[in-house]
Amino acid sequence: MIVSERMYGLGSARSAIRELFEYGKKRAAEVGAENIYDYSIGNPAVPSPDSVNETIVELLRTEPSVQVHGYTSAQGDADARQAIAEDLNRRFGTHFHKDNFYITCGAAAALTISLGALVVPECDEVIAIAPFFAEYAVFAGNAGAKFLMVPPDTKNFQIDMEALADMIGPKTRAVMINSPNNPTGAVYSEETIKRLAALLTEKSREFGHAIVILSDEPYRELVYDGLKVPFITKYYPNTIVCYSYSKSLSLPGERIGYVLVPDEMEDHDRVYAAVCGAGRSLGFVCAPSLMQKVVGKVTGQTSDISWYDNNRRILASGLKEIGYEFGEPQGAFYLFLKALEDDTEAFCERAKSFDLLLVSGVSFGCPGWVRLAYCVPTEMIKKSLPVFKKLYDSYK
Ligand code: PLP
Repeated sequence: MIVSERMYGLGSARSAIRELFEYGKKRAAEVGAENIYDYSIGNPAVPSPDSVNETIVELLRTEPSVQVHGYTSAQGDADARQAIAEDLNRRFGTHFHKDNFYITCGAAAALTISLGALVVPECDEVIAIAPFFAEYAVFAGNAGAKFLMVPPDTKNFQIDMEALADMIGPKTRAVMINSPNNPTGAVYSEETIKRLAALLTEKSREFGHAIVILSDEPYRELVYDGLKVPFITKYYPNTIVCYSYSKSLSLPGERIGYVLVPDEMEDHDRVYAAVCGAGRSLGFVCAPSLMQKVVGKVTGQTSDISWYDNNRRILASGLKEIGYEFGEPQGAFYLFLKALEDDTEAFCERAKSFDLLLVSGVSFGCPGWVRLAYCVPTEMIKKSLPVFKKLYDSYK
């Protein structure tokens, strides 16, 4: 049967994370789940706030079924969009309104739609900052863009501005950023964002067209120690925000998020229309109707972030005591650890032999490092620390 070779390749190639996750399940059946230390997958482990289920029940009880389960307009339920705008305005001092928002099936759809809206296929380039969420390359490729990556700044896990400056050229359409970051857990500082905004302003002028920041923000609220995540549209008007409730409300399976196109964006109406067009061409029709209404009603709330924070502290202090090096985990629920040998895959294999499941940084564009997703039971973290010590000692 003739099929698209590209799609065949994507569908038959295994994701390193999924593969490890499946291995963990198989191994747990052999030796008992309590003996496996599975740090592979970023699946929220904290339940949604009670208000989510209560709102679902309330909506099902009070709203006509054909409305709760019916189509919404393509850009999403107007009341939900207005509620999201008002919540952001309250928290960030912005001036958004419902027509800045296009509700999507999570951040993945928000990204594919935004890239579809921006990219001139076979012509444009999209740049991501390593380490990055591996699916970016797939999404950018799908839009027909050439995908380029800025090498990682492994000192601070901010942005190597010189390398980015060298990479931007006349074909650059967008720069993708993600803070708080998967896989490093770093948060881009205000200084980083200001420098990025200045660079892109200068380069946009030089090349005669706007270079867009595509800001992927599924972890916006997952930050610790009172850290503030700069709201990017306030620093750079030509920003499209891709947001998700997958992590902040622990709703990854419900597929809900949004694209935000601020009024300040150059040619806002054209960009917003192109977002609607990309959603249409990708066949999304609308985001899940019930969930749109739910997030509109609980907007501003989050799952219990302090639970991740507690895990973060236990893991970071335990690993530090053993002697491991890692990036400062400031947000999301990931810790990025320096491998104890140059061959990252060999390090992951050795960790696996101790039943420690760590994801190689290679697929994130950052060899030499591995990702630990600490959205896991706290007991597992505590039990894993002596095993991390054994792994460490095995390199002595
Ligand atoms: N972007 C990043 C950085 C992620 O880590 C994820 C999911 O883990 C996504 C996007 C996709 O999230 P969603 O479930 O909202 O599609």
